[in-house]
Amino acid sequence: MKIAFIAHDKKKEEIVNFAVAYEPVFDGHELYSTGTTGKRIMEKTNLKITRFNSGPLGGDQEIGAMIAKNEMDLVFFFRDPLTAQPHEPDITALLRLCDVYSIPLATNMGTAELLVQGLMRGDLNWRMIVHEKEKKNKGE
Ligand code: PGA
Repeated sequence: MKIAFIAHDKKKEEIVNFAVAYEPVFDGHELYSTGTTGKRIMEKTNLKITRFNSGPLGGDQEIGAMIAKNEMDLVFFFRDPLTAQPHEPDITALLRLCDVYSIPLATNMGTAELLVQGLMRGDLNWRMIVHEKEKKNKGE
């Protein structure tokens, strides 16, 4: 499963704690993040994360590009709802693409906890069926 982590500055500690708490669950999945979020998670865990640019420098759009290709399965995006972000249009675009492709998305810890429970139970395995179908359609 391909999983993305993004957190605004005031939410970074929260996402790091979340990643530490569920490290054994995330281990073995293909992990992606925006620049600083991934750096902070990797400092506190042994998870290997492919890091894109920082959010304000296009990282949200890079993750969005994966979603647009149906290559991302789950997104943890801990947004700061109380601080204006310079890259608000990119944030909106990323949220929109998750809706376009029905990608499970958690924008706060409450939902993130539920999604991770679902991940552990195999509730998101339908994503693998999507990938298999795509491969078949491409003739791979
Ligand atoms: P960052 O980007 O992980 O590089 O801080 C996320 C953001 O702030 O949008």
